[in-house]
Amino acid sequence: MWFVWDPVGLACAAATWLLLLSGWAALLSELLGPARGGAEGAAHGALSTALAGLALAAHGRTMLTDPGALPLGAGSGLGAEPGDPRCSACGLARPAGAHHCSVCGRCIRRVDHHCPWVNNCVGEDNRKFFLLFTLYTALAALHALLLLGAPALRGHAPGSPAPRGALLLLLVALYGFLFASVMLALQLCTLCTDRTGRGRGERGWRAAWMNLADAMGRPPSLAWLSPCASPRRPRAGARYAEV
Ligand SMILES: [Zn+2]
Ligand SMILES: [Zn+2]
Repeated sequence: MWFVWDPVGLACAAATWLLLLSGWAALLSELLGPARGGAEGAAHGALSTALAGLALAAHGRTMLTDPGALPLGAGSGLGAEPGDPRCSACGLARPAGAHHCSVCGRCIRRVDHHCPWVNNCVGEDNRKFFLLFTLYTALAALHALLLLGAPALRGHAPGSPAPRGALLLLLVALYGFLFASVMLALQLCTLCTDRTGRGRGERGWRAAWMNLADAMGRPPSLAWLSPCASPRRPRAGARYAEV
C-alpha cells in the first residue's frame, strides 16, 4: 500500500477529515436535533451523510493510491523515450510530464502537484480520486450553505432562529466550498491543457474529454462517480497506443 510519511501532510490530511466530519456533525444535529425538520430534515440528513461519506472515501483513496511513481531500479522510467532527461535524485529517465517530488521521494508520472491536504502527489493514477474528493466536498459544502440560507428547505418555518453553531458551520461550509471548487476548476483546466496524455494530438474539448476519460477510466460509466471503483486503463507502456 502507498503511504507518504510526511508529518506536515499527515496533520493537514487529519485537519481535512476533522473539518469535514465536524461540518457534517453540526449539520446533522441541526437537521435531526430537537428542532427536527420532519421528513425534509431526514432526507437532507441522508443526503449530507452520503456526500460526506463519498468525499471522505475519495480522500482516503487519493491518499493511499500510488499516484504513478516510476518503478525504482527499472533503469528507465516506463514510457520514457531516448533523449528524455534523467532524474538527478533517483536516476530514472523521465517520460514527458513526470517530475520528481521531494516529499514522496519518487518521480511521478503526469504529476499535477503535491497536495498536503491529501498527503500525496496528484498524478496519473490517483487523479480520479482527487477529482471526486473536490467534487463531493464542493457539493457537500454547497448543500450545507443552501440549508443554512433557506430554513424552509430543511423543513423549518421561514424566520426560525438560526441554529446553534450556525456561524461555525457557515465558515466551514464557505471555506470548503471555495477551496474545493477552485481545486476542481484547476484540475479541469489541467485536463484541458495537458499535452502529455492520450489527448495530446487533439484540440479543444476533444482533447479535454480524452484526458478526462484517461483519468476516470474507460469506457465512460457510472463507475466514474464511485470512489470505490479504480479507473480502468490499458497497462502502463501500452497506455498511449490505444485511442
Ligand atoms: Zn526522481
Ligand atoms: Zn509528492
